[in-house]
Amino acid sequence: MRLLALLLAALPIGSSVDGRAIRPVVLGDPAAAHRVLVVGCIHGSEPAGMAITRRLIAAGAPAGTEIVVVPAVNPDGCARGTRGNAHGVDLNRNFPSNWSAIGHPGDLQYSGPHPLSEPESRYAVALIERLRPQITIWFHQPQGIVRAWGQSVATARRFAALARYPYRSIEWPYGTASNWQNHRFPGTASFVVELPPGPVPTARIGVWVRAVREIAVEGVRR
Ligand SMILES: [Zn+2]
Repeated sequence: MRLLALLLAALPIGSSVDGRAIRPVVLGDPAAAHRVLVVGCIHGSEPAGMAITRRLIAAGAPAGTEIVVVPAVNPDGCARGTRGNAHGVDLNRNFPSNWSAIGHPGDLQYSGPHPLSEPESRYAVALIERLRPQITIWFHQPQGIVRAWGQSVATARRFAALARYPYRSIEWPYGTASNWQNHRFPGTASFVVELPPGPVPTARIGVWVRAVREIAVEGVRR
């Protein structure tokens, strides 16, 4: 437990607009070459992935891998059931790659006054800069596909196969977390799992957890 506490202390803990903590949970071996980051929820109106991250935390990481789990990078939106954060910003339009001014506060895809204007997106960037994950998986809803673009396509396609789920290559919207990571860390993969609407059926949760653990063992595909 003492070692676990030290490891947790080594990673930054975020704070949302309303002061809620954003806590990463470290599973497995921090010295492992295969490092995966999983974010259960960034759009607060799309919370289904958090059932998967909860089960993943209980399952742990396979030997030789490290998996870092952030159940919710947008805890205020999750508490309110809103897509955006407490400022009404769509966090997944607030990252500094291909950012564009979109909408106004409260609009579904409002991208914020400038890139990284929000503490939650700044936290995600700080965490990814620290971890340098080979693979980052972001859970969303409700499109029912794994989606990726560019350097993330091969790994995302493999992940979809492991999860027995449809895959599509789709260009990233403006200012997304995945597009930013792809530019900041060439050779890494960052992609989106769009779960269907509603809660994930219990039997299906285990399939997702197995797929995450398997891709952690396999590592990034190029
Ligand atoms: Zn979403």
